[in-house]
Amino acid sequence: MILVTGGAGFIGSNFVLDWLRQSDEPVVNVDKLTYAGNLNNLAGLRDDTRHIFMHADICDGDKMQELLSTYKPTAIVHFAAESHVDRSIHGPAEFVRTNINGTFSLLEAVRTYWSQLASPDKEKFRFLHVSTDEVYGTLDPDDAPFSETTAYAPNSPYSASKAASDHLVRSYHHTYGLPTLTTNCSNNYGPYHFPEKLIPLIIANALAGKSLPIYGDGQQIRDWLYVGDHCVAIRRVLEAGKPGETYNIGGWNEKANLDVVHTLCDMLDALQPNVVGTSYREQITYVTDRPGHDRRYAIDARKIERELGWRPAETFDSGIRKTVQWYLDNQAWVGDVQSGAYLKWVDKNYKQR
Ligand code: NAD
Repeated sequence: MILVTGGAGFIGSNFVLDWLRQSDEPVVNVDKLTYAGNLNNLAGLRDDTRHIFMHADICDGDKMQELLSTYKPTAIVHFAAESHVDRSIHGPAEFVRTNINGTFSLLEAVRTYWSQLASPDKEKFRFLHVSTDEVYGTLDPDDAPFSETTAYAPNSPYSASKAASDHLVRSYHHTYGLPTLTTNCSNNYGPYHFPEKLIPLIIANALAGKSLPIYGDGQQIRDWLYVGDHCVAIRRVLEAGKPGETYNIGGWNEKANLDVVHTLCDMLDALQPNVVGTSYREQITYVTDRPGHDRRYAIDARKIERELGWRPAETFDSGIRKTVQWYLDNQAWVGDVQSGAYLKWVDKNYKQR
């Protein structure tokens, strides 16, 4: 049994689905079901007894302790977080609460649980903390990509809260010997991505005939990682990562936001042409840039490649094609998220249990 936090979110739900495709080891999925948690993503597991959903807040240390004693996981994969930079600018408190205090409460519960394990379970146990490349700050065009030794310089309340959680995790290894692993990855994309983030937002708005908002000049550069590749990397780090180590995970796909949007428009023009016969590019509008917007992120993923033999299977071209096709095939999923219907489905099916 492994325990996953935030397994109803974008990456977490992809990970749970991928895990149960690869293994019979059950998953207990602990999620508070904020606006970003969507159990519709896991509807295919509704009758699968290997998936146990627990509606709980990671800030509730007693509850975390109870879940650990009940399920006795061999590993924890910690995805739960507030994850949207724009929301962190408008309301940082929830980011401090979940990302910092929540990670702290979880670590405390895990420390107690782990200290009571007997050999060999104690040595085999792993706590894998999923974090972001945004903790490293911003790069100039000619700077080398972020490596595991790049100094932290977070610029948004989101990245600062993730940086704080990374430091707590590091300290629990250094001070208490907890077998932790930290992964810092670049921007993920793929199925079940909440349509407030760039790629799903652009696809949804294009198909709805709405404007395609671009921050500033659209020349902010991000590295893009297909979520399926990320899930494989996390499994690999769990299997073979060295306790106390950090692994950067990236897709070797640096792209300017405007180029990503152009790619999406061109793919949609070919796959589902606009009814009025114009290119989706004509829906692009430039909006005031995000305050403190980092200019460039890039990941040097050579450590995980060299030490653990992981490499992304998707190129940006193959991954974005799969993603666009998924959104075209799953417009009802996007519609449910945008209308809020997914929250009612969750209330009816899970919260009352
Ligand atoms: P998400 O916002 O889609 O999902 C977060 C999940 O955590 C949701 O299901 C939510 O209900 C749950 N959650 C939030 N607060 C909680 C709490 N207090 N207790 C329990 N559950 C809670 O996020 P995501 O995009 O899937 O990201 C997952 C992790 O990966 C995060 O830690 C994020 O910082 C990190 N990350 C994401 C990306 C990306 O591109 N999406 C990139 C780098 C790192």
